Amino acid sequence: MKKIAILGSTGSIGTQALDLCRRHPDRYRVTALTARNSREKLFAQVREFRPEMAGLTEGFDPKEIPEDLKFCRWMSGPEALHAAAAEEEADQVLVSIVGIAGLRSVLDALQAGRQVLLANKEALVTGGHLVTDLAAKAGKPLLPVDSEHSAIFQCLQGAGGNRPEKILLTASGGPFRTWDRERIERATPAEALKHPNWDMGAKITVDSASMFNKGLEIMEARWLFDMPEDRIEVVVHPESIVHSAVVFRDGAVLAQLGVPDMRVPIGYAMAYPERLETGVAEPDLFRLGSLTFEKPDERKFPALRLAREALRAGGAACTVFNGANEEAVAAFLRGGIPFGEIPRRVEAAMEKLSGLPADCLDDILEADRQARLAVTGGR
Ligand code: MG
Repeated sequence: MKKIAILGSTGSIGTQALDLCRRHPDRYRVTALTARNSREKLFAQVREFRPEMAGLTEGFDPKEIPEDLKFCRWMSGPEALHAAAAEEEADQVLVSIVGIAGLRSVLDALQAGRQVLLANKEALVTGGHLVTDLAAKAGKPLLPVDSEHSAIFQCLQGAGGNRPEKILLTASGGPFRTWDRERIERATPAEALKHPNWDMGAKITVDSASMFNKGLEIMEARWLFDMPEDRIEVVVHPESIVHSAVVFRDGAVLAQLGVPDMRVPIGYAMAYPERLETGVAEPDLFRLGSLTFEKPDERKFPALRLAREALRAGGAACTVFNGANEEAVAAFLRGGIPFGEIPRRVEAAMEKLSGLPADCLDDILEADRQARLAVTGGR
């Protein structure tokens, strides 16, 4: 029986992880749940899974807790994340909150000796060196939940210790893959929120349309697999069946395939090194008939070039890339800037804030603050 704490339990990853816990009550016991502000959803989860601790990170009035849920220790604010990551008893901590708050939670969980199931991108993007150092010292390898990184991690299980020459990071290409530059420039939030294959939150769906998501994933792969950016190739694969692949020096390529359903990578991280029954069917190859692959167009999607530049620059450049993008996406979703302005705002922030250090958590949080300010102009 594994004890699992879930940070961000009402989001897309969190609810699917709980779906797996529901399927396997003999294998998982939920000890802590946190959400940002989805009260009713969290209350229903606490009622069903009966964790020892639960919290809303945006805070709440204790009077709001329903009488029948008072068996559980309730916390609010950032302390709720700390308690769920490091204080409450757990073998595994699934970090599926969105944003840079994930960095502190991952460091907290590793320091407390927990196995981290990583669904938060920002922790590696902004503090990859701190997180991987700590995970190595703790002897607890990070278990990736992002579908591409789970695929690469799964392929490496068959590598017998051989390091790959190259990683092939697949990308769906998003809803604007076949659009021309001018049309992408003027895309609306409704158009950006229509993802062809994956059902995800709003921020990551926009990132998928701009390919900023793939830029962030190049950064994740760099740290998870200790691979320089020039050996991580992005391959556009619109069917989202091949979730990524690794190339070895003998020319062999190992890939992981499956239908686009996050329960597979979530379940793999939860049960590693075993495999769990997830309720996901195998892809119907006969019905698919063929799979296609394309080279990404970096003129249409400058995010890929910017991500590589940030990785090469080092220091806090990736933190600036991430923070500036987050603010630019928020401005786009509010109708404040056109879609095509997102990468321009990020590039301007990277130029303005080049050379910031990232030696510790405080450095990183400061670079994040400055990056956001560079985009919002202090609004
Ligand atoms: Mg992904």
